[in-house]
Amino acid sequence: MQWISADVVFDGYKFQESLYLFVDDSGLLIHKQKDKPDGDIRMLPGLLMPGMVNAHCHLELSDMQDMISSGTGLVNFLSDVNKLNRLNADKKKEREVTKQEKITSADESMYNNGIVVVGDICNTLSTIPQKTQSKIYYHSFIEAICIDPEQVENRFFHYSNIYYEFQQQLSASLSLHAPYTCCNELFEEVAKRSNFVSIHNQESQAENDFFEKGEGDFVDFLEGYQFKKEHILKEQQYSSSLHRTTELLAYTDKKIYVHNTYTAGKDISKAGINDYWCFCPKANLYIENRLPDMNLFLSKQDKIVLGTDSLASNDTLNIIAEVKAIQDAYPAIPLENILRWATSNGSKLFDVEELFGSFSLGSTPGYVHVEGFDTETYKITSIVSERLK
Ligand SMILES: [Zn+2]
Repeated sequence: MQWISADVVFDGYKFQESLYLFVDDSGLLIHKQKDKPDGDIRMLPGLLMPGMVNAHCHLELSDMQDMISSGTGLVNFLSDVNKLNRLNADKKKEREVTKQEKITSADESMYNNGIVVVGDICNTLSTIPQKTQSKIYYHSFIEAICIDPEQVENRFFHYSNIYYEFQQQLSASLSLHAPYTCCNELFEEVAKRSNFVSIHNQESQAENDFFEKGEGDFVDFLEGYQFKKEHILKEQQYSSSLHRTTELLAYTDKKIYVHNTYTAGKDISKAGINDYWCFCPKANLYIENRLPDMNLFLSKQDKIVLGTDSLASNDTLNIIAEVKAIQDAYPAIPLENILRWATSNGSKLFDVEELFGSFSLGSTPGYVHVEGFDTETYKITSIVSERLK
């Protein structure tokens, strides 16, 4: 058992200039107080905060680091990922061994840099072995894709099998990939069986052009795979991509919209009260070289969470790096707010706030030290974060 504190402590909600935590060897928070206690204190320079929530990751793409060029836009990015997946299928066995090693090291590096909860997108079973032995809490979103309505039954059977395997051992829910790869019929199948759906949303201008005008790069993208735009765009007109999603998932309890790089104010007002907005700023900079307009979302701050996306579109799976990217691009947003998105908001999203996300007594939140923290300006100065317990 041990007392720990730092120059500044963020408790999951607010900065505290004086807060001492009494923690047992398993990481359970037993006691906390503002006054300096008697006895030995492990006093850290910089910032101490609870473990973080990575609300959007693709652990199974961990073997794609440095394989995809950055800044070419979403449509090219998706084509590159597809090409790599096909290439990998040729050398399946040897790729699978490397893949498992990369998944293990990505999981361990997230744990060591202070991530305690991950919302992870899954297209295959490949992350199950690591997740069942990981020290991180995972919720797996089984991601369905089907463009052609005639193939929905077939594809849905496949995803249901994957979902079945996950939910035997782990927290999981059926989800959707993105508006332009999911026909209305697939939305209906998923909505019938899932109350917690993740979907990539408005990650490119091309997505808006496709749903608002029926034109642009996604028409060519679909035709390139022998699909027609009419598979996705039905007669009924929606004012935007997000408008269609909110209508098709009107009865789904909880949703998480991921990216929102090209989401407009009029779209935000269409979302329900239990809808979360997940931002992955470093992946946005990597793929589209642009950040979402965070100012549009500030009235929804209780529902903002952060994600890293995958190593195909990011150089590291580190939430402090995402926090710093937003802090640097939006200096007027208080760091306290951004840290809340990274901790307590995420633990509410995944219904684990009794265990993670804040320094509340009786929880095992993880204790993360960020040494690169300016105690005058309250800004993060380096992305190095280290888990103590
Ligand atoms: Zn993603």
